[in-house]
Amino acid sequence: MPIVRVALNVPVDTLFDYQSDDATSHDIGQRACVPFGKKRVTGVILAVCTDTQIPIEKLKSVHSIFREIEPLAASLLELFQFCSQYYHHPLGMVIMNSLPALLRNNKPVRLKNTAPQPLMLSDLAKQISLDSIPARNRVARRLLAEFQAASVLTMQQIKQISPRATQLIPEWLQLGWISAQQTINSASGTLKIPVLTQEQTHAVTAITNEFDRFHTSLLHGVTGSGKTEVYLRIIEHALSLGQQSLVLIPEINLTPQLEAVFRARFPTVPLANLHSGRNDTERLTGWIQAQRGEAKIILGTRLAVFTPLPDLGLIIVDEEHDSSFKQQDGLRYSARDLAIFRARQADIPVVLGSATPSLESYFNALNNRYRHIRLTSRAVQAATLPDIQCIDTRIHKTPDGFTEPMIRALEKCLAEKRQSLVFINRRGYAPVLLCKACAWTARCQRCSSRLVVHLSDKKLSCHHCGHQENFPRACPQCGNQDIAPFGHGTQRIEETLITHFPSARILRIDRDSTRRKNAWQEILHAIHSHQVDILVGTQLLAKGHDFPNLSLVGILNADNSLYSTDFRASERLFAQLMQVAGRAGRANIPGHVLIQTEFPDHPLYHALQRHDYDASAQTLLAERKIAGFPPFVYQALLRAEAHGIKTVLEFLHRAKNLANPPQSIELFDPVPAPMLRLKGMERAHLLIQSHSRKPLQTFLTDWHRKIAALPHRKIRWALDIDPMDF
Ligand code: ADP
Ligand code: ZN
Ligand code: ZN
Repeated sequence: MPIVRVALNVPVDTLFDYQSDDATSHDIGQRACVPFGKKRVTGVILAVCTDTQIPIEKLKSVHSIFREIEPLAASLLELFQFCSQYYHHPLGMVIMNSLPALLRNNKPVRLKNTAPQPLMLSDLAKQISLDSIPARNRVARRLLAEFQAASVLTMQQIKQISPRATQLIPEWLQLGWISAQQTINSASGTLKIPVLTQEQTHAVTAITNEFDRFHTSLLHGVTGSGKTEVYLRIIEHALSLGQQSLVLIPEINLTPQLEAVFRARFPTVPLANLHSGRNDTERLTGWIQAQRGEAKIILGTRLAVFTPLPDLGLIIVDEEHDSSFKQQDGLRYSARDLAIFRARQADIPVVLGSATPSLESYFNALNNRYRHIRLTSRAVQAATLPDIQCIDTRIHKTPDGFTEPMIRALEKCLAEKRQSLVFINRRGYAPVLLCKACAWTARCQRCSSRLVVHLSDKKLSCHHCGHQENFPRACPQCGNQDIAPFGHGTQRIEETLITHFPSARILRIDRDSTRRKNAWQEILHAIHSHQVDILVGTQLLAKGHDFPNLSLVGILNADNSLYSTDFRASERLFAQLMQVAGRAGRANIPGHVLIQTEFPDHPLYHALQRHDYDASAQTLLAERKIAGFPPFVYQALLRAEAHGIKTVLEFLHRAKNLANPPQSIELFDPVPAPMLRLKGMERAHLLIQSHSRKPLQTFLTDWHRKIAALPHRKIRWALDIDPMDF
């Protein structure tokens, strides 16, 4: 009897053997439901063989093998294998977590017709007059009218016109009035396709010229330089070869915008959207469309890097510097790095796009490991990069968060009927509750963090664990009743603005105001149709959005990131300010950026004023080199947490003593995490680094095995490879 070896979603690094009466090698990559302890679970078959280490009488039988969809391809299983080894995470967990939720169930999936292709009206049928269809054929008339208006309709849209309309489709296909044929250049006549700038042309040719082999390009283009247009052209190239394109984007609600752009340009090309907001059925459908090769463009957030793509021809990672590509718990993978692995594996190009590349990618480009493709000017002719100035807060006071020059600039902008954006660097800048008598501040019971004041509902809330509580009436420490919010969060800034500009239409954008479904769509609509004068927001606003009416960006407090203990804080601050400044002056309105700061002479602000990414990156790289930080070394972090810090540190010390690292590897002492308590747990870590990846990996594999053998009840631990947060 054949034996199947199954990867299960359990935290041990072994596969499980079961008997099966009908398994064949075609079942490798197929899902199997098997008994596990007292339960049934579903995993993925990785091998079908005839022998096993398990005594035959102990071997259980597979409950069922689900064969309703294609098995996972060998190349995808290889990606999982790599991911499991590189990130030191059990293979079964890697595989099962990457699958859509409905494929993790102990049930076969019921497949609806996944991808009815959109139908396109032929040139012939565009000429047919509606009157030539007899009036009693109402449905036919309406269908033709809708087709003539839209050129392309999906079956779903047709069904909405009338259920009877679908019955006309076979006949119309026969008549040649409509076709299901995919044409890639069928963007409807109203859509203007821009003529590429010289730099864009160069970028497109550099990538398409060698489309049949692996190379990594860093598409480094200033904000507004038209990177999206470059993506569209190279995707068009992949489409013309019948290939699939995978486009990865950060977790920032940009998907609807980008999806709309793609759909407008390629209206007949099936597109699967796999972003994190999709529900289970949508995700499964998109995943299957991709696996069947039906979906040609796959748009998604980090998890989409694991999508099966039989005809993959191109990968794009947009905003590659964004930290949301790195998962911060469970399998701590970097979707950007896996995208590069996948491209190498499939021998295809991968494009990393950003206005402010991560130092790692920039460094690789400088060393010619990546191609450095630059777009140095804005694509829209009249648009220039905004003018950036600092307001010295040692000279200009900020009684309510705003300096006099900032208020005047906002006033001028309002008078000119243009939009402005007030940007607050959220990190460490939310208002906290402070007792002026004894300096007590409200803290979260479960985390080390300070609670943030939410004025609208008079609540204190923890931005790490979500804990909420009411305002205390008096200071719990000294009884003083005069406790007041300190600092300026988005809500306080909004209130201040209302008092300064009572007639202005002000819109606050932060995590609270965007939580509702469709909130983003409404907000974007309000901005684009100019129903808003002043936007107030945090980093959520900084990225990727195109706001054509925006002419002023005011940055209220960025300074605290300049002197942070996190060595990546300056890199992030620069990228963030560059991005937020990039929102201004994108169309033909000139843009201005004002930064309130106590350190107007800081090199970072100087580089920012000159829009000089390179100067800033070179300075930061020089600092990193001296300090021995990435990208000059490779790092891993052994993270651990438990209820008490003592237990955690003891565990880490024992782990350290187990290690027998070679010369090339540096092992530091365990230290408590900068944010000690999180969600009721106390945390510490131990840093490991090396100048080369290979010995580091070899060491970690061996060490990981030894740590796993330690008794570690009550301790949660994990290795974090290439950590981004400390
Ligand atoms: P980025 O992503 O690089 O910040 P976008 O792709 O958002 O820039 O492009 C900025 C603006 O420039 C968009 O409005 C886009 O339509 C326009 N654009 C892009 N390429 C061209 C071009 N070749 N000619 C004219 N306008 C262009
Ligand atoms: Zn007090
Ligand atoms: Zn908390």
